[in-house]
Amino acid sequence: DDKSILRDLENQTEDELMLRPQYLNQYIGQNDIKEMLSIYIQAAIKRSESLDHVLLYGAPGLGKTTLAQIIANELGVNIKITSGPAIEKTGDLAALLTSLQHGDVLFIDEIHRLPRFVEEVLYSAMEDYVLDIVLDKERDSRSIRIELPPFTLVGATTRFGDLSHPLRERFGAVFRLSYYTIDEIKQIVRRTSNVYQNKIDELAVDELSKRSRGTPRIANRLFRRVRDFAEIMTDGVITYDVTNLALTKLGIDQKGLDSSDYLYLKGMIERFNGGPVGLESIASTIGEEPGTIEDVFEPFLLQEGYIKRTPRGRVATEKAYELLGKKYYKGLLE
Ligand code: ADP
Repeated sequence: DDKSILRDLENQTEDELMLRPQYLNQYIGQNDIKEMLSIYIQAAIKRSESLDHVLLYGAPGLGKTTLAQIIANELGVNIKITSGPAIEKTGDLAALLTSLQHGDVLFIDEIHRLPRFVEEVLYSAMEDYVLDIVLDKERDSRSIRIELPPFTLVGATTRFGDLSHPLRERFGAVFRLSYYTIDEIKQIVRRTSNVYQNKIDELAVDELSKRSRGTPRIANRLFRRVRDFAEIMTDGVITYDVTNLALTKLGIDQKGLDSSDYLYLKGMIERFNGGPVGLESIASTIGEEPGTIEDVFEPFLLQEGYIKRTPRGRVATEKAYELLGKKYYKGLLE
């Protein structure tokens, strides 16, 4: 019974289903990835082969799951969706793999969190489409071999560095998703407003996009909140004023930074003199999980140049000091 291992697609809300692009030509941005994938997919279809295994990595909400579903749609096959921590036993993996049909996609989110012994069983499945299962570890180590249909594994991770070398090696294509440009986010916001049938001013599109951290999931989330305000205040028409008011009330500043980002930067500057500071120390200072900080907050702060990573730890940059209206002494101390 693989009910609990599979993430239930039916559990997606109506909204999520409507907003998710279904085919490559509806997927905005990540142009290099789309171009390469389109070639690989067409070639696989032409040769009637399964697509080579694909690894997608990048910050949460950039569109990895969406892309996995698109790959399956473009190939015209089924997709099963699971995640690293959900697969606790080799039996879980075996159940999933043997339920696949020829050419299907298996999507494993957070693949860096797959237990090691499960990962090792995955190697031969990826390479030769066979499963070698050890039957009785205690007495003798008889194993059985199960043949699998050719399939495509799509793995997603926020942490490329946490992936073991042998696992990385078994992906034929590795793609890094980047943050979206303002123009791309604007296209996504316009698309979302079409789906919801909300009128939106261009100035509002611009403002919402600037404050969405280059991340589609955040853009859509903020859109829904702004839409609530518009419902009450302007009969559903999303104006610049409504957008600005709603986002400010949500604690999101002009640059897309929220109270957690400010806590992080303030902590770093006030408690640790701007660093270098280790992940654990900054995490305990602001009361967040180290993993959340590393996966969710830091990538954007790094990308925007508020922090830097050095061998001795994280440091706040002059830009961070300016943001908080503090004097930057670093040059003097060095
Ligand atoms: P991830 O798996 O990387 O965390 P998702 O694939 O779940 O991200 O994407 C989050 C949401 O953002 C999706 O529900 C989808 O509606 C939207 N989205 C992501 N990428 C795009 C894109 N390129 N174009 C349009 N919408 C997108």
